[in-house]
Amino acid sequence: MAKKVLVVEDNELNLKLFCDLLQAHSFETTPVRDGREAIDRARLFSPDLIVMDIQLPHVSGIELIEMLKRDAALSGIPVMAVTAYAAKGDEERIRAAGAEAYISKPVTVNNFMTAVRRLVGPEAIPDPRAA
Ligand code: MN
Repeated sequence: MAKKVLVVEDNELNLKLFCDLLQAHSFETTPVRDGREAIDRARLFSPDLIVMDIQLPHVSGIELIEMLKRDAALSGIPVMAVTAYAAKGDEERIRAAGAEAYISKPVTVNNFMTAVRRLVGPEAIPDPRAA
């Protein structure tokens, strides 16, 4: 079964890039454009991984990570933070919020997929016995 990734990103181009990349590697994706919907969508979709943009309108990715990590049902889902502005102290704040991984934009295919695989293992490989 395909592993599932919830992608929280307000920038349409980045959202498409991340989802296309993940789908090309056999992951199932759900896009979330409005951070205020992220927690509910995580509950519904039960993802194996959450890719979290940090710069979001209305609510910051850091706040969302803190909310996820305080939620008993969701805290076990690894979170990969993606941020454009790596100001001094940002990585520490993101890690302190509970993110398992952190990459900065612009992302490369390699960086992105390496970080994803480190958190969820390789993409699903078709089971030969299922044929
Ligand atoms: Mn953003």
